[in-house]
Amino acid sequence: MSDSSPQILVAYTGGTIGMKATEEGHKPVSGYLQKQMAALPPFQAADVPTYEVHEFDPLLDSSNLTPDEWLRVARVVRDRYEDYDGFLVVHGTDTMAFTASALSFMLQPLDKPVILTGSQLPLAETRTDARSNLLTSLLLLGTYPERLTGVHLFFNDRLYRGNRTTKVNADSFSAFDSPNFPPVGRAGIDLDVDWSRVPAGQTPPRAPTVTALGGATVSAFRLFPGLEADYLDNVLAPPVQGVVLECFGSGNAPAQNDAFLRALREATARGVVIVAVTQPLRGTADLDLYATGQALADAGVVSGYDMTTEAALAKLYFLFEQRYTPEKVRSLVQQNLRGELTPPDEVSSSLGRARRRLAGYQ
Ligand code: ASP
Repeated sequence: MSDSSPQILVAYTGGTIGMKATEEGHKPVSGYLQKQMAALPPFQAADVPTYEVHEFDPLLDSSNLTPDEWLRVARVVRDRYEDYDGFLVVHGTDTMAFTASALSFMLQPLDKPVILTGSQLPLAETRTDARSNLLTSLLLLGTYPERLTGVHLFFNDRLYRGNRTTKVNADSFSAFDSPNFPPVGRAGIDLDVDWSRVPAGQTPPRAPTVTALGGATVSAFRLFPGLEADYLDNVLAPPVQGVVLECFGSGNAPAQNDAFLRALREATARGVVIVAVTQPLRGTADLDLYATGQALADAGVVSGYDMTTEAALAKLYFLFEQRYTPEKVRSLVQQNLRGELTPPDEVSSSLGRARRRLAGYQ
């Protein structure tokens, strides 16, 4: 395929981007997005790669997506892999970061580009962000069909590593950020990609295998002052296998609360894997840093470092799918598997210095 002009498959799952104003409010309408793309001159420009739209039935608001839909997307990529040079997943913004994270674990190896995009306003609106998000994603896929390997998310002139993204704004066109990993690319006058931030693919590309997620029971839970241990017991109760624990600051929790620590310890002893991530948008949850974090580590909680909740959840689903023991899941969840995590020895030297200084206070 790559000898001729690049061919792109657009997997259209739904979202605001293709919605139509109807008497019942905005809703996705079958064929509407394609009709508009076909009617807009920029989508017919010579430098826009040839694309074909595969529309999901039904089209969904991404709030309704489940691991079953992740699997449908992953299978479309796998089944049409030989026929296309790149894949554009058109998706609602609300859970796009979850899908991007999940696909990065589900599709391996991935030697061709997959970009997720969507928009805050429908393509039909005058001030829409859909046009530039769609067009630039198509241009990126058409320009770098062989180099832009892996799962990415493009939004508002930024190309991000998919499993580093999170939705940060419900109103702005800058809806996404990649708080702990710099953008992979920027669309200004030029389309600039920092290739050191893109995983090297194999040539010729090998077809991916798909791991279905959703078989395990995992969840996420945000700590808050005043949390009762009984409540935590419920969160950790069977059949739960893994929990992403959104901790304070650098991975801190109410370590003076014995009932809280007991709940964690008992769940760990039952085989529940508890991964600490940080509530602040930026930074890392490292349980070695403070006594309050070490109390968590003593109760069996492991550091999720700078993973987003979205990536940590997807990773837990993925690791349990491999039928690993809880011990093995605990070990692997702390390692960088798909570029989703910065290992503690690779954090910037200034942060390293701060860590060593803080360690002196313990
Ligand atoms: N609720 C919509 C969705 O996620 C929002 C959007 O697309 O921006 O499908």
